[in-house]
Amino acid sequence: MEKTTNKPTFIPKMYCNLFGHDYQVSKKVTYHVKEYTCRHCKKELTTNSNGNLIELTPKFREINAILSRIHTSRTQRLKEKSLTSSIY
Ligand SMILES: [Zn+2]
Repeated sequence: MEKTTNKPTFIPKMYCNLFGHDYQVSKKVTYHVKEYTCRHCKKELTTNSNGNLIELTPKFREINAILSRIHTSRTQRLKEKSLTSSIY
């Protein structure tokens, strides 16, 4: 017996081959680095240190996680600083 179920990933990929990827920002890592996901095939990209878009590999995902942590703690510290300076 042969199954004729459609593979769900096949059509979106074909769509991207024909019309190009439709990337949307999925995560803001820092002011300059963002992660993008294609709406159709879920392919992920990120901004590298040169500002170019590259494929989001596990290694870059790791780098972005670190960058994000530094960025958050830095902005947090700035917030606290401005808060204390407004008190005194
Ligand atoms: Zn795509």
